[in-house]
Amino acid sequence: MGERITVENVGKVYGSGSRALDDVSLEIDPGVVLVLLGPSGSGKTTLLRSLAGIERISEGRLSIGSTVVADGRVHVPPERRDLSMVFQDYALWPHLTARDNVAFALKRRGLPAAERQVKALAMLDRVGLGRLGGRYPSELSGGEQQRVALARALVADTGLVLCDEPLSNLDADLRERMRIEISSLVRQAEATTVYITHDQAEAFALADRVGVLERGRLVQFGTPEEIYAAPASPFVARFTGLAGELAVRVRVRPAGGGLLEVEAATRSAVRPVAARPGAELTDGDDALLCIRPTAVRLSATDADDHHLVGTVADVAFRGRGYEHAVVLDEGTQISGIFSDVRIERGRSVGLRLEAPGCLVFSGSAAGMVPTAAADPPGPLAPPVAERPKLLSAS
Ligand code: ADP
Ligand code: MG
Repeated sequence: MGERITVENVGKVYGSGSRALDDVSLEIDPGVVLVLLGPSGSGKTTLLRSLAGIERISEGRLSIGSTVVADGRVHVPPERRDLSMVFQDYALWPHLTARDNVAFALKRRGLPAAERQVKALAMLDRVGLGRLGGRYPSELSGGEQQRVALARALVADTGLVLCDEPLSNLDADLRERMRIEISSLVRQAEATTVYITHDQAEAFALADRVGVLERGRLVQFGTPEEIYAAPASPFVARFTGLAGELAVRVRVRPAGGGLLEVEAATRSAVRPVAARPGAELTDGDDALLCIRPTAVRLSATDADDHHLVGTVADVAFRGRGYEHAVVLDEGTQISGIFSDVRIERGRSVGLRLEAPGCLVFSGSAAGMVPTAAADPPGPLAPPVAERPKLLSAS
């Protein structure tokens, strides 16, 4: 059964003086799957290793259940924290068989050897490897090794399971299947899980809660749906998938409805756009419009319901439909636009923007500098979740 995890004002400064975590606070209910999402260097691994007890925190307090495991005075070592870990590189014992790797995790539980073997085999069965228990890690594929690592993490039935990018060494197809397996296994085990990834699609697919880290700070914490609908900043919006961004001016603030009207400062804008304010904004403010791919509809240029006009720059068949990229007159690209019909490169098109996926933040286009060191998905890449699966990949 999972434990409640409490992180209070945690900071971490490495010996080199670099600050990896800055005043991070969050709470995870028992059995919840938390995914920490952020670009490379944002502090994800540091937070996970601090929870594990591999790193000592510099400030704040960490609790697992009702036990304080780290604060200014206390540092409970990893082996006494009742948790298990799954790493990117599997970290199996090369000289032990799959079955013995899993059984090893039960050693501390003081079970007789025979019982350890029986439990290990049952767990390997659950991850689909019952037949391969006698093999050594070198005789297993990457996906099989990661299943062994997962079985080892789950067999001990600890209160907390920590996963550091466990799927990043697997190819795309296997990654998706393993994501589903991990999701169902940790939920069956009712283990509180902290899972880190830099992949927005993986985070959204797996998480009950997502914590977004930016340079050591927790900049948003919520359900995947909350974060997609109302990102806290342009950084979070970009990192969770945008079709494009436009410099705009706030035109009016209609009473009620919660929406603002903004005028794009582009020659391609033909109508004002209704958008959700992501910040305090008033009439005449320069602002930044962040557009989710789900908010964009292609329409014929002579239709009277579109907001922007442009030219198709790319069209890609994606099985479910066609993904278009459109370039506006002054060069801004809006990408990840799905349509049932194929519109050829070079054709003039109109774009209709729907308010729920149009998010307006204070600041001008000067704020459009892509965030440094952002791992894919990059600022303008449509999130993988928006892309249909290829027919062959299902
Ligand atoms: P992530 O897992 O999100 O990529 P990390 O937690 O590994 O990020 O790193 C966060 C920051 O801390 C980075 O700036 C990184 O260079 C720094 N860092 C990580 N580990 C160490 C270390 N052992 N010593 C010094 N700095 C470190
Ligand atoms: Mg890391």
